[in-house]
Amino acid sequence: MSKKLGIVYLVGAGPGDPGLLTLRGAECLSLADVVLYDYLASPELLSHVQPSAELICLGRHGHGRLLSQTEICESMVQTASDGRNVVRLKGGDPAVFARLAEEIAALEAADIPYEIVPGVTAASAASSYAGIPLTDRDSASCVAFITGQEQDQKLASEALDYESIAKFPGTLVFYMGITTAPTWSRTLVAHGKSPKTPVAIVRRASLPDQQTICTSLGELPHVLSQQKLRPPAVVIVGEVAGEYRATNWFNTRPLFGITILVTRPEHQADDLATRLRSLGADVLYQPAIEIAPPDDWSKVDAAIDRLREFDWLVFSSGNGVHFFMQRLLARGFDARRLASARLAAIGPATAEALAEFHLVADIQPDEYRAEALAEALGPQAKGKRVLLLRASRGREVLSEMLSAAGASIEQVVVYESRDVSDADEAIIAALAAGKIDFTTVTSSAIARSLVSLFGNALSKTKLAAISPLTAEVLAEAGYPAAVVAKSYTSEGIIAAILDHASRSC
Ligand code: SAH
Repeated sequence: MSKKLGIVYLVGAGPGDPGLLTLRGAECLSLADVVLYDYLASPELLSHVQPSAELICLGRHGHGRLLSQTEICESMVQTASDGRNVVRLKGGDPAVFARLAEEIAALEAADIPYEIVPGVTAASAASSYAGIPLTDRDSASCVAFITGQEQDQKLASEALDYESIAKFPGTLVFYMGITTAPTWSRTLVAHGKSPKTPVAIVRRASLPDQQTICTSLGELPHVLSQQKLRPPAVVIVGEVAGEYRATNWFNTRPLFGITILVTRPEHQADDLATRLRSLGADVLYQPAIEIAPPDDWSKVDAAIDRLREFDWLVFSSGNGVHFFMQRLLARGFDARRLASARLAAIGPATAEALAEFHLVADIQPDEYRAEALAEALGPQAKGKRVLLLRASRGREVLSEMLSAAGASIEQVVVYESRDVSDADEAIIAALAAGKIDFTTVTSSAIARSLVSLFGNALSKTKLAAISPLTAEVLAEAGYPAAVVAKSYTSEGIIAAILDHASRSC
């Protein structure tokens, strides 16, 4: 019997915004044993990949060796021949200026099955994200995608016919055309295209630092000599480029141009990061603490076995709910195990976590703080048996106040919370250079860990604290918060950043 072959998925990664990957592209990534990707691929795209998959970066200009096209083809063929599924992630659309023909030829020659998944090409992204339509009923009934980098060895007869291009009755979009722009723009003018034709250069389309520069065909060489523009950028040439307005939907979003560092543990950061990103922010991650299962489950298991002895189960974080409930389910129990107890949640995120397990919190204080929870629960807890399901560290105030209110308290650690000891070099450098506008500080433990991770560099960013308590920890360490949330939730911290950002522009 012949050996089972893997399949190769040639997947369009889109122009940069990880949200522009297609659903099929995400599916293929989840099926991959090996992913070959460019350094430009957003790290978030790799979150669709199984943890067991092998990730191979194809290199970066100026950083180590770039794999040649032949080596990439060989690597795909070899991996699929070994029976493994490969995703070759290609920027934008794999069929636009991406040497797709060579990859197809190599796969067909080796009889490797393959699939091509389209992606959003740079011209489409630049057009939508700069608010410039590529076609127009009056002025542009067609569009041409043109490369500014011709293969050197091409015969003169196969080279681009600029006389025809100058007469093209629609929009021209140049890819890879920044360095050669002085030449091709002059050639177009020499062949009769009006030097007044509007031009828009869109750099890093769809990314949080997208830049658009408007000029005319005649002025293009001068504009580019004035400012050094680094790739990637497309140049849109045509009447449609005159439609560009600096106040377009993309760069008027309230946090556009603002860089925010999110410091929550990775799996929790998503929600906050997604919301900040949709408001236009450039979001960076540096978890300051990490959350892990308890080193030993025996105490949690003992509590689960005795669950019916407790009148109240008190959850002081969403993490606590997840770790506890998952352990309970993993041991073959279900929510009925909690039937005789009442449930208390410290705040809305904790109540939401309970809701994921179809549980409704009987008590949730108006204010998301241990003191408020203790005050709300105190009167009902007198003489009752209360189980606190908590992190390996944290304040003792809840157990102290409930004991003082006459409750009999037991505590069990359902997850470990530890400081992260090393920060990412790129984040350290960005912070030191004052490039991070805001840093979110969503708990006291995170505040302390940030101080030991970054020290004095914290004075170069505005610290956005989730609560007065967190702000106090920062202030005591000598780094007062620039903004403090009014409601002690992710929403509250976002509202505080929005308020500060709107006041400072
Ligand atoms: N297959 C890709 C194109 C690869 S050629 C696609 O379909 O988009 C590389 C060129 O694409 C760059 O030189 C630049 O002209 C363009 N490009 C890629 N990403 C871009 C982005 N985010 N913004 C502007 N241009 C981009």
